[in-house]
Amino acid sequence: MNRIDKVRLAVLVEDTKMPIRYGLVAKHGLSFFTELKAGGHTTNLLMDTGPSADIVLQNSHRLGIDLRKVDYIVLSHGHYDHTGGLLGVLKFIDKKVPVILHPEALKPKFVVKKKRLKKVGLPFPISELEGSKGILSLNRRTSSIMPGVWVSGEIKRVSPFERVKGFKTKKGDKLVDDNMLDDQALFLKVGKKGLCVITGCAHAGLINTIRQAQRITGSREVYAVVGGFHLANAGRERIRETIEELRNTGVRAIKPCHCTGKKAIAELIKAFGERCKQLRTGDVVEF
Ligand SMILES: [Zn+2]
Ligand SMILES: [Zn+2]
Repeated sequence: MNRIDKVRLAVLVEDTKMPIRYGLVAKHGLSFFTELKAGGHTTNLLMDTGPSADIVLQNSHRLGIDLRKVDYIVLSHGHYDHTGGLLGVLKFIDKKVPVILHPEALKPKFVVKKKRLKKVGLPFPISELEGSKGILSLNRRTSSIMPGVWVSGEIKRVSPFERVKGFKTKKGDKLVDDNMLDDQALFLKVGKKGLCVITGCAHAGLINTIRQAQRITGSREVYAVVGGFHLANAGRERIRETIEELRNTGVRAIKPCHCTGKKAIAELIKAFGERCKQLRTGDVVEF
């Protein structure tokens, strides 16, 4: 069967400061530890590593999660708040582990803030990975890591209202717009529930990401959408259209966090009621 039995996702790092449980640290960034259960076997996949390893290591320890059991690391994109912990995490894991990312995640990345250029890419040279046991798997295409689990690869931009804004990269010496082609998500087909979409920041657009998940998995209906939806700077209209399209997917569980933004989360709760619940550091969800 092309599906897993169950998934348990623990939020190792997320932004929201309050309320935070004792001993856990919240910080701008994201890291999800996912246990993918199929046929009595568990595969552990770490999606993103937060802004620094100390936080991921401390929080996972507090949550009783042993990161040495990680079988795969997937990086949703190259921004520091998702990749900064990679080196330290690999050092801790201390065994060969594939690190799946889009090649453009390694490009220099910037945002313009108050007319100033701020570096937001991978905070260490990729050559530093050579001393670790991480095996880089640079991939633009969709890949399946086991039956029922896909890493999206580059996400097709089809939705007319989702545009990437505010990011820059370098082409030679020239500063150019960064369309965030490296942005990718995780697609799971889970038991009787169906399609679960797990995003990092959804820079490619939440609806574009869902469309890709539907195409790849062959499931029209979506059961759950979890992660950063990158609507923090989105206008009213984009939030409205996103909610409209989400509703059309029949989604049962919406778990926004990180860069979704307070305004969009409030609108999602208004539209979906109990079906929508914000995720914070230390939260665990099971599908
Ligand atoms: Zn980002
Ligand atoms: Zn982010």
